[in-house]
Amino acid sequence: MATTGIKGHKVTSLAKVRSRIVGVNQPVPVLSGAKKPYIFFDNAASTPVLQEVLDCVNQFMPWYSSVHRGSGFKSQVATKAYEDAREVVGKFFGANKRDHVVIFGKNTTEAINKLSYRLGLSKDDVVIISMMEHHSNDLPWRQVATVKRIKVDSAGHLIESDLDELLAKYGNRVKLISITGGSNVTGQLTDIHRIAKKAHAVDAKIMIDAAQLAPHRQIEMKDLDDPEHLDYITISAHKMYAPFGTGALIGRRDTFESGVPELCGGGTIDLVTTGRVEWTAPPDRDEAGTPNVVGAVALAKALQTLASISMRQISAHEAELTSYALAKLNKIADIEVLGDKNPANAEFRLGVIPFKVNKLASGLAAAILSTEYGIGVRSGCFCAHPYVTGLLDLPSEDIEKFRGEVIAGDRSHMPGVIRISFGMYNTKEEIDVLASALEQIVKGNYYQNYNIDKSTGDYHAAGWEPRLDTAFSLL
Ligand code: PMP
Repeated sequence: MATTGIKGHKVTSLAKVRSRIVGVNQPVPVLSGAKKPYIFFDNAASTPVLQEVLDCVNQFMPWYSSVHRGSGFKSQVATKAYEDAREVVGKFFGANKRDHVVIFGKNTTEAINKLSYRLGLSKDDVVIISMMEHHSNDLPWRQVATVKRIKVDSAGHLIESDLDELLAKYGNRVKLISITGGSNVTGQLTDIHRIAKKAHAVDAKIMIDAAQLAPHRQIEMKDLDDPEHLDYITISAHKMYAPFGTGALIGRRDTFESGVPELCGGGTIDLVTTGRVEWTAPPDRDEAGTPNVVGAVALAKALQTLASISMRQISAHEAELTSYALAKLNKIADIEVLGDKNPANAEFRLGVIPFKVNKLASGLAAAILSTEYGIGVRSGCFCAHPYVTGLLDLPSEDIEKFRGEVIAGDRSHMPGVIRISFGMYNTKEEIDVLASALEQIVKGNYYQNYNIDKSTGDYHAAGWEPRLDTAFSLL
């Protein structure tokens, strides 16, 4: 199926997709003074933009205007584009208009915060999450309910018997299971529909944090009368090749038909007097203020493009990369892959691989990869401190020590690992470059003069200050 509705290039095959990634192979300066084509292995954080998305945004801009309240032609075009985007997003995730609404917002974090507010929970209520959650799917629930965590085994798999015990123990106090569809640390997938069935069996609801899952797997909300349905999912467009500041909460309409939104103001009401407010119907009730129309259009175009390539093809390609990378990393002495190391299991996980470079701080290894090879990876705890400190088996006294140091402004001993994460456009050749860089690094073949900035925990090569302003500058 080709992408529709927008003039310009159409991506229909995965083979062509790399050439449609804006900025791919961008030369970047490295320590030797040369420039190297940038290799980006931090797609779990944010993906680059697809040319299709950028073209679509550019085509839309002359028609951009105020939405919903404007009566002019351009306002009508923009309003239609915004509502069409809502429809595209809903359809992509198998939502139906009778049961579900698509609420646009900034990102997954905002979406989860919104839901945590809108469910009207109290501290007597239990929300079950897991030990592997991103802070965004942990901290909001701590504010409004009692949080219990499902344990995760050393490979990163959810221990479902632990969930069963929590459900039996907390019974009808459990109002929600809120769990990631795929770990941003180990790449392990959750069997979301099986967990959904368990949630519904005890009359609880389920929310899937799909920030990591949605860019790599087809997700189906399913109808509400299906015991395996998903009540809510949350996504971020910047992880799906559309970094224009949008995310979405897709969820059951009935949750948003009553109650007061966490942000009140323009757009959320039907009628206001000095004494009364008539709140409007969803989704508008939950989209206070002027929405990000461009972001919504960009997200919709990204989803159309992903659909035209097919999520099946995307996940197969990423599994091939993951298997290849694991096999290579496993062979390098002094590189220790965390979680599931088995290349044969690649199709059952996401292309997110955490590893340690033994004897080297993760921040230093990441700095060397960037400074000397032009490879962008992530190091640290990936906004999942409880999980990563657990994966590293750090004693609680050490964590207390780090806490004291961080409060005092010293991040130099913060624990962490390195993470590489693939997008649909990465290649085996790029993994080869990473692997040979790591082979040199573990042998100690790197510039020996990196300094750490204690306040950030970042490492910098002494005497080297690459000119960022020659790449891009507003000033
Ligand atoms: N959940 C998971 C699993 C994530 O990986 C992320 C982003 N790293 C988030 C939530 C938060 O996403 P955002 O920053 O777009 O709100």
